[in-house]
Amino acid sequence: MDYDIAIIGLGPAGATLARLLKSEFKVVALDKKQDCGSDGFNKPCGGLLATDSQRSFIRFNLNLPTDILTDPQIFSVKTLDLQTNLIRNYQRTYINFNRHKFDLWLKSLIPNHVDVKHNTLCKSIERIIDGYQVTFIENNQQKVITAKYVVGADGADSMVRRMRYPTHTIRQYIAIQQWFTEKHPVPFYSCIFDNNITNCYAWSISKDNHFIFGGAFPKKGANEKFEQLKQKLEQNGFIFGSPIKTEKCHVIYPQRWRDFHVGNEQIFLIGEAAGFISASSLEGISYAFDSAEILSQILNGEAKNPNKAYYQKTLKLRLKLLSKIIKAKILTTPLLRKIIMKSKVAHIENIK
Ligand SMILES: Cc1cc2nc3c(=O)[nH]c(=O)nc-3n(C[C@H](O)[C@H](O)[C@H](O)COP(=O)(O)OP(=O)(O)OC[C@H]3O[C@@H](n4cnc5c(N)ncnc54)[C@H](O)[C@@H]3O)c2cc1C
Repeated sequence: MDYDIAIIGLGPAGATLARLLKSEFKVVALDKKQDCGSDGFNKPCGGLLATDSQRSFIRFNLNLPTDILTDPQIFSVKTLDLQTNLIRNYQRTYINFNRHKFDLWLKSLIPNHVDVKHNTLCKSIERIIDGYQVTFIENNQQKVITAKYVVGADGADSMVRRMRYPTHTIRQYIAIQQWFTEKHPVPFYSCIFDNNITNCYAWSISKDNHFIFGGAFPKKGANEKFEQLKQKLEQNGFIFGSPIKTEKCHVIYPQRWRDFHVGNEQIFLIGEAAGFISASSLEGISYAFDSAEILSQILNGEAKNPNKAYYQKTLKLRLKLLSKIIKAKILTTPLLRKIIMKSKVAHIENIK
């Protein structure tokens, strides 16, 4: 084998695993992002760091550089139910940051003993005796390497998951985000529910004088639904104007226990590739960190059956994600949502 471990994808999950693996391993890491600048692949994301991710930073003994932060830092999410016209403010302790800079920074922390290939697209993973053959395109050239273990850290559209587990499908929505010049007098975060438009939800964020509006929609008619929602929100005081840029990507939406797939036969899935994303908030960075941390401990400890150990050690994480599925079902059910919002529990009233 050329390598002990091949990591496909260096988002928060892959970059964290690459950083935590011990130097005795021969590791290759392939990522379609470039190593600097804003050209090439950029992950569409809200760029909000939840408390669970902040906890990972404590465990990793890492501090977030301030040049990754964006302005302003906001302490609540305005939640709108367009079916009942209820509006509530819920306290949140998110950190508002630039997602692309964050990903590049995480990549920069990968130690030199890992063979990192930037701007490289992995094309296929094929089983060979004792491991896998990995085919990728680097500098317009097709190359092949072999590795004992393959880690799919390649996100929602995971090629590793699609190639190795073609029958394992998870519900996916199209996430659409548009960036506008921020014109609201007081910038805010929002979370918007309207079951007539989507059975998921929409959101808005303010970042460095930009107003970002996004939503997750069923694939059929996603663009029309997005525009419809914008029109409705204009009547609720949202200011859009002309979009500066539009981003689209798939976002997975786990709904059942079997939607989580951690891999087998020397393949491991981590982060969103494994289905690890909160169905109730689409927060996924903490699960990317957690799954990478768990896998690094198993591989570093040279467990006898690492696939079995990874399955067992991620049980708690999967149970937590199951609770988010239940929470999402409650929040996207109009009657239950109405009862919660009407109760005003945890709501903080604006006095001005
Ligand atoms: C619109 C939107 C908003 C979101 N907002 C938030 C938020 O505010 N906070 C939060 O915590 N979570 C948010 N999430 C979820 C979060 O973005 C993901 O859960 C998280 O990025 C998962 O990390 P990951 O490393 O598993 O995958 P990714 O971040 O998707 O990283 C995968 C990496 O793999 C690489 N890659 C993919 N395919 C290949 C290939 N074939 N060859 C080589 N490289 C490849 C890409 O370069 C990519 O960087 C949001 C998701 C969406 C869609």
